[in-house]
Amino acid sequence: MPARTIPLVDQRLLRAEPSGLPAAPLALDGALRDALGRPLRDLRISVTDRCNFRCGYCMPRERFKGHRFLPHAQVLSFEEITRTARLFMQLGVRKLRLTGGEPLLRRDLDRLVAMLAALRTADGQPADLTLTTNGSALAEHAQALKAAGLKRVTVSLDALDDAVFRRMNDADWPVADVLAGIEAAQAAGLGPIKVNMVVQRGVNDGQILPLARHFRGSGVELRFIEYMDVGSTNGWQLTQVLPSADVLQRLREMGELHPAEPAADGETAERWRWADGSGHVGLISSVTRAFCRSCSRARLSTDGRVYLCLFAHGGADLRGLLRGGADDDAVLQAIAGLWARRSDRYSELRGAAPGAAVQPAAGRVEMSFIGG
Ligand code: SAM
Ligand code: SF4
Ligand code: SF4
Repeated sequence: MPARTIPLVDQRLLRAEPSGLPAAPLALDGALRDALGRPLRDLRISVTDRCNFRCGYCMPRERFKGHRFLPHAQVLSFEEITRTARLFMQLGVRKLRLTGGEPLLRRDLDRLVAMLAALRTADGQPADLTLTTNGSALAEHAQALKAAGLKRVTVSLDALDDAVFRRMNDADWPVADVLAGIEAAQAAGLGPIKVNMVVQRGVNDGQILPLARHFRGSGVELRFIEYMDVGSTNGWQLTQVLPSADVLQRLREMGELHPAEPAADGETAERWRWADGSGHVGLISSVTRAFCRSCSRARLSTDGRVYLCLFAHGGADLRGLLRGGADDDAVLQAIAGLWARRSDRYSELRGAAPGAAVQPAAGRVEMSFIGG
């Protein structure tokens, strides 16, 4: 993906010259708030831009043919990631999520997990440390990840039917491997496990009920995500989105559902519970019901850029600061300054003016680069 930089004002902010840095609001004892009053609570860390799948909605094969992935020298080391995460945690982050590309492709990931598990928030708590994976290699890694200190996993799974699944991952990968990965993660104690299904009308909406039946009563929480217009390679169209309201209607064919409380603060899913006590399902209505007002996430790309929104056109180059010898205070101030200026609310604006171009898709960061 072309690595773009943020507008000049923020580049100045990130210059590795402590003396030239503007005073930024550091809130070491509480939540740091952005321009819309949203706290900084979550950091998503992309550990690789590579993936063994080519999901059409994320890394369409024809568009990623010949794509130049990041060379090793541009990839943040485990030490750089850990330092960055430690500083984000000093600013109020409580939740760290490892993602990618496919994070389990990064060699020795359990070593990074152990390093992150040792970090503490400003009030002495370990982070809620989680991982999002396509599950293809989870069976072989689950035990080691758990032993290293990973708390939970979220597995992406778009179909139960093997043929539909192979078509969707466009890598001929069998669904059995992902199901085995989920079982291994459950056995290792990496739960409660969430499974995310991106629903595309006409592609896999026929898999909503089979997946719901499969996971009902298993302790795994299945969540349905509306297909989003992220990036600029997937050719997204509104007609391909199946609204959560329609998903809910279909689920009701299986039984009675009642609204349920969110499992955690800032959760993006609207949760429902089966009336017979057989568990929960979640609906993530990124398109039809934007949740920008509670968006507390920053994203760190594999090459050390900070993105403040999934729909951003550029990220702030933190790697330059880290490798330029900046001390912790300078990095803290840079991050705090970025967050203080944040006013992104793309989905909300798009929702308010359906069909209108809120901002051009061209040049938008790709999902596989910042990890969702
Ligand atoms: N490779 C890992 C995986 O698939 O779980 C982690 C990275 S992937 C980019 C993170 C999440 O983004 C996955 O759950 C994926 O389904 C979701 N995703 C990717 N493109 C999307 C899109 N256009 N709309 C909605 N979700 C998307
Ligand atoms: Fe890979 Fe995940 Fe994107 Fe699919 S959604 S192509 S598994 S990064
Ligand atoms: Fe957060 Fe941007 Fe998504 Fe809104 S559009 S919820 S600000 S990532």
